[in-house]
Amino acid sequence: MEKIILTGDRPTGRLHIGHYVGSLRRRVELQNSGQFDKIFIMIADAQALTDNADNPEKVRQNILEVAMDYISAGLDPEKSVLFIQSQVSELTELTFFYENLVTVQRLQRNPTVKQEMLLRGYSDDGTDNKAGIPVGFFCYPISQAADITAFKATVVPVGEDQEPMLEQTREIVRKFNATYGETLVEPAIMLPDNAACLRLPGTDGKAKMSKSLGNCIYLSDPADVVWDKVKGMYTDPQHLQVSDPGHVEGNTVFTYLDAFCKPEHFEKFRDCFVGKKVSFTFNSLDEVKDQYRKGGLGDMMIKKFLNEVLNDTLEPIRQRRHQLEQNIPYVYEVLRKGSEVARAAAAETLADVKRAMKINYFDPGVLDQLIAEQSEKYAK
Ligand code: ATP
Ligand code: MG
Repeated sequence: MEKIILTGDRPTGRLHIGHYVGSLRRRVELQNSGQFDKIFIMIADAQALTDNADNPEKVRQNILEVAMDYISAGLDPEKSVLFIQSQVSELTELTFFYENLVTVQRLQRNPTVKQEMLLRGYSDDGTDNKAGIPVGFFCYPISQAADITAFKATVVPVGEDQEPMLEQTREIVRKFNATYGETLVEPAIMLPDNAACLRLPGTDGKAKMSKSLGNCIYLSDPADVVWDKVKGMYTDPQHLQVSDPGHVEGNTVFTYLDAFCKPEHFEKFRDCFVGKKVSFTFNSLDEVKDQYRKGGLGDMMIKKFLNEVLNDTLEPIRQRRHQLEQNIPYVYEVLRKGSEVARAAAAETLADVKRAMKINYFDPGVLDQLIAEQSEKYAK
């Protein structure tokens, strides 16, 4: 069986470091591993419209932003198909057929849908003054199943919040295959292997870093903006004096270090730990954490180090982005070509699905058979 990847992002804003560690970094590694036959990366504009129907301009603007973030972060249009969801109308057809295989009750139980409804202020019973749930938004897990299965994806690299979506997709695949015969491929989720990356918290330390919450460090943020955000980050509220023992668990600065720090950073950014009053020499993150727990290591020193560590990853991305910003036609051409390739792949699956459901009336051979059957019926 071919090894195929499908994953993507909603164009509701630029991509942030949560996207990077949750999925994007992994995609680039998988792309460059050469172990996959096909890689499809989707900009999910149709899905973004399910809760932004009144703001198509926002979605339209962010398609380019996400595409530039992709290419800057290392997705290579020669190796991966970058495409726009709405340009592959086959996905909508598949969604329509899959809708018959899922109950309203099952969708209501989906924990991600529940949480996102809460986040967006949608009411779940329509009895209070909150906005009702758009049907399209409610059904988006089904459209996600269409996206994944259309490309016969075997692997979907995503953050932890997508786990219930993958489970829903697998259920649809099983139901479809049991009802109409073996047609669709059951995908596997690929979560980040580093616990800090499963659901990276926002700079406020409270919730998941998310475009909708405004607690993000964006891949395209200039260095001074990153430094301002790092300086303002939530650490340990009980670490009031430098000499106080500090907590590492639940301390967002350390969570980000867990997600981004590499062994070579300790030598490279040694100067961050040289202070006027005290200096430290660290060779690993464990040593930094030990010292923080003991006390004596100030938040400012750690933040300076984190800032360097982040910029080590972000600076090359920023530079590639500056180049792309000078070459917008190229970016759109990548998306146009990618959407054509994606459309051809999805059309094959749609044909398989229609064949399995016996709604391929006019396929070669099928019409002749239908005419023969019906004629015989009426000849009697
Ligand atoms: P929105 O607020 O519009 O839903 P979002 O920031 O949650 O935006 P999505 O486009 O919904 O981003 O998610 C795209 C991908 O990035 C998914 O695979 C998701 O799991 C992953 N992801 C998003 N935020 C994080 C995070 N904070 N940590 C880890 N992975 C994340
Ligand atoms: Mg989201």
